[in-house]
Order: sequence, then structure tokens, then C-alpha cells
Amino acid sequence: MNLNKMIELDEKYYMNTFGARTPVCFEKGEGMYLYDTNGKRYSDFFGGIAVNALGYAHKGLTEALKSQLDKGIIHTSSLYYIASQAKLAEKIVEKSCCDRVFFGNSGAEANEAAIKLAKIYFYKQGIDKNEIITIKNSFHGRTLATLAATGQKKYQMPYQPNIPGFTHVDINDIEALKAAVTDKTAAIIIEPIQGESGVFCANTKYIKEVRKICDEKGIILIFDEVQTGIGRTGKLFAYEHLGVTPDIFTLAKALGGGIPIGAMCAKEFVAKGFEPGDHGSTFGGNPFACTAALAVLEAIEKEGLLENAAEIGEYFALKLVSTGNSKIKEVRGKGLMIGVALSVDAKDVKNALFERGFLTGAVGAHTLRILPPLIVGKKDVDEFIKALQEVLA
Ligand SMILES: *Cc1c(COP(=O)(O)O)cnc(C)c1O
Repeated sequence: MNLNKMIELDEKYYMNTFGARTPVCFEKGEGMYLYDTNGKRYSDFFGGIAVNALGYAHKGLTEALKSQLDKGIIHTSSLYYIASQAKLAEKIVEKSCCDRVFFGNSGAEANEAAIKLAKIYFYKQGIDKNEIITIKNSFHGRTLATLAATGQKKYQMPYQPNIPGFTHVDINDIEALKAAVTDKTAAIIIEPIQGESGVFCANTKYIKEVRKICDEKGIILIFDEVQTGIGRTGKLFAYEHLGVTPDIFTLAKALGGGIPIGAMCAKEFVAKGFEPGDHGSTFGGNPFACTAALAVLEAIEKEGLLENAAEIGEYFALKLVSTGNSKIKEVRGKGLMIGVALSVDAKDVKNALFERGFLTGAVGAHTLRILPPLIVGKKDVDEFIKALQEVLA
């Protein structure tokens, strides 16, 4: 099918939630590269929105999935035991501050599960705490509860009334947070680095104070690591940079290397809130998805991708800053989660980079978002910087 036909079918039959997409369809992938229907090559600096941690056609991931398919089993349901699900749960617990995990299929679902767990934890003890504080300009997903958590009016307005009990405070403003806490506050949800709103980091001092408030008041601290998790920032989880641990954290995007899977991970004391029948998922943690996630974690370990993300991330940020280009106002983020504040329209820059064969994202009027696969190398970065310099010239 040619591209014009796809566009025609999409316009006629697909719900118009994405509007006009970038007019391209990718047919083949290899490492950092995607190839479109005309055979044109693109260097992917957006990774399918921080999903494709291992790039394309990764040998370990591909072989693991093929071998699972060869067994003839994609799905069995969690009515039965699943080896890869058990192993993946063990692996995440071993590598993190959590004691137990629950698998769903997306970031929103993982956050939905976190909200439910925080609430049921107090409910089971007969404690009347059910309010949740989140951060302005956060993004937590598109379900009704995660929309209420998302501190952006534009997403919430059409779906009134919102799920009650959510309040939003400015990032890195500890006084605002203190003022928002009540006797009914059950949980605080924070993205260690806000992704969708343009790469804004919560600072370490703030997070440490948030942790302290949670400890003092018996509030559950939830980190939404759907985007920051699984190596994006140069550590497996972004909280490792911050010197605190959350009580619950959520994962999704990169976890399955492209196969949909989300995880809600909790310390034992709060995980106990879920008992048989309290939560569930038909697809969540199925053999295929868990096989993918195990292969992703194995590749990250074997190929030193955390170290690579940290090193190349630093190199990238330095290169961006040292271009000396006056149109680059600020470089934000950590590791391979990069936001470049521009003085010019970010969509124009994104489109011009696309023409030159580089995929990026744009958010708001002025922020270019860069989220390459964790396998990205210095040579890729050099090529990108050269293209960006041309575009900004
Ligand atoms: C993408 C994202 C989500 C939503 O994930 P979906 O898989 O689209 O439901 C939630 N939180 C954060 C921080 C995200 O980046």
C-alpha cells in the first residue's frame, strides 16, 4: 500500500485523534535507523516516544520474541502461572526499591493501579485518606483517573466532571506542596522529570523534602517513571539520581522495547493493600510481553546501556550547549531525556530535521524533545548536531 492510500484510509476510517500525522510510514528498522516506503533512511532521535530503548531489529529482543512465538503461546491469562512473568517480577524487585509488582499494558494503566493501591491501602485500615496531590503540567495518562491526576486543564475540560480528590501544585515549590497537604492526603504523584510537558526536572532538594513530608504525615509517595524508567536517564530508574526511594513507582514506555507492558511496583507495606480480587488485567503480564521486557533488561545489562545513556547523554547536552547557537536558549533533562528550549518555533525545527532524515519531537511552541534509543552513539549525535546547526543557521 502506498502512503497516499494509507492517508486516505486513515482520514476516512480512523478516529481523528491524531489529526494530520507526519506524512511517512516506516517499513524497516535497524539499530538507530528507520526506512520509509521510499527507502529513505531516518536516524531516530525520538524512539517511538521513549519506547524503543533497544532501537530496531535488536538481536536479543527479536530472538526472544521469536522463540516465544515458536512455543505457540502468546497469551494464557493470569489464571495460570507464567514463567516469564514471575522472572520479570523478580528481576524488577532485585534491581529496585520495590518488593512486589503488578503488570498492566500501558503507562496510564500502571498509574491507575498506583492510584487504586494508594487508596485501598488506607481504606483497608479504615483510615479516611483518599486525596492525591500531583504537579502542574504533569502527564500521567488518558484514563479518567490519570487525566484527573494530569495537571493540565486542556486534557481535563472536555471530560467534566473530573474524578474528585486531585489537587495540583507547582513543581519544585515545597511551600505550595505543604499548603496543599491535608489530613486526607493519601498520596503525592511526581514525575522525576516531566516528559510530555517539555522536560522539566524535579530538583533533588525538593524531592528530599517531599519524601520527608510523606514520612512525617504517612503519605504514599508515587513516582511516575513511565518515561524516565528503564535507563532513559542513565540509571535504571530516575529516583536513583535523587537520593530517595518512592513507595510506589510505575513503568511502561521502554519496558517492553515496543511490546505493550506497564508495571506498578510497590514496597511491601503498601503492596499488601491489594488482596485477591482487588485488581486485575486480562492481558497484563502475558508471556509475550514479559518475554520482551526480560530481553530488554538483559540487553541493558549485557550491553552496558545505562552507562551508554549516561555518557552519551552528557556528551549530547555538552554538544548542544557548545554549538554556541543563540537560538538554543536552554538544554534540560538528564541522560537521554533531553529538552532543548529554542527561540524559534520548535515544530518548524522538528519538520526541518525530519526533511534531513532525523526524527525528534516538539512540545509547546519552543521545546524540541530528544529521546533516542539507549544504543545511540557519539557518531549519531555528531550527525544530529550537524543537521541541527544547518536547520538553525
Ligand atoms: C507516556 C506517559 C504516560 C502514559 O502512558 P500510556 O502508555 O500512553 O498510557 C504516563 N506517564 C508518563 C510520565 C508518560 O510519559
